[in-house]
Amino acid sequence: MKIAVLSGKGGTGKTTVAASLARVINPSQYVDCDVEEPNGYVFLKPEFVNSVPVRVEVPAADELLCTGCGECARVCQFNALAVIRGKPLVFPELCHHCGACFIVCRPKALVPELRKVGVVESDKGGTVLQGKLEIGEPVTIPVIIELKKHMRDDIPVILDSSPGASCTVVQTIDGCDYCILVTEPTPFGLHDLKIAVSLVRKMGIPFGVAINKAMDNNMSITDFCDNENIDIIIEIPYSRKIAEEYSKGNLPVDGNKVWQREFELMFRKIKEKTGK
Ligand code: SF4
Ligand code: SF4
Repeated sequence: MKIAVLSGKGGTGKTTVAASLARVINPSQYVDCDVEEPNGYVFLKPEFVNSVPVRVEVPAADELLCTGCGECARVCQFNALAVIRGKPLVFPELCHHCGACFIVCRPKALVPELRKVGVVESDKGGTVLQGKLEIGEPVTIPVIIELKKHMRDDIPVILDSSPGASCTVVQTIDGCDYCILVTEPTPFGLHDLKIAVSLVRKMGIPFGVAINKAMDNNMSITDFCDNENIDIIIEIPYSRKIAEEYSKGNLPVDGNKVWQREFELMFRKIKEKTGK
């Protein structure tokens, strides 16, 4: 079973939920798809022993073959190519690897060149994985695609998505059996939760909401979920103790039987919902 944990808004406690769930499900695999700043390792403390480079193909121009026609620059939707005074100029960091320029270049003056954009790291047992984008690289998708190739089929997999509702999130949750949408009871939390809900509905993935930093009055979130017929599958209170432990790299479930049980119950609910 593949469970993705996402949040419309950053800083809601998405990694707390994802890593806690991975901790209580034994065995399970935790896959950190927040490749711009993976931080699940801070809590799960794996020893990464494998590192697989992620490379993509970007065009390189053979000036002897190039006629300076400018077709490649015209077709590129990402401004990764320019033709200046009849000479092609490639900006590889802007390339989205769509391949269009190779197709339109009639003299075949463009050849693919490999460029490293990130790495996939894993521990010895392959139960904790993370993707890491190279500094300055803007395109996350190739790293997530490579990361997802290492997912196991024999144990539950928890995918820790990046926040938001961008193509990075779409790539992460694509093919998942269930999504946990983590939110907090604030106007911003509700606003971004609505966006996340419309995304998972559009993709047809079953989902439930986890309220983090829950307070006595969570009505903004609970009313929305009631009206939309959305299950709230866990509530984690606004707690100084949890925040202090978090700052030390500890999860709510670490050494706490009450929270271990809460997360086990949440997992059981998800299993019932998905029938897996
Ligand atoms: S592969 Fe696509 S994105 Fe990259 S330079 Fe060519 S046209 Fe632009
Ligand atoms: S499409 Fe090919 S031939 Fe035309 S400018 Fe680009 S690299 Fe040169």
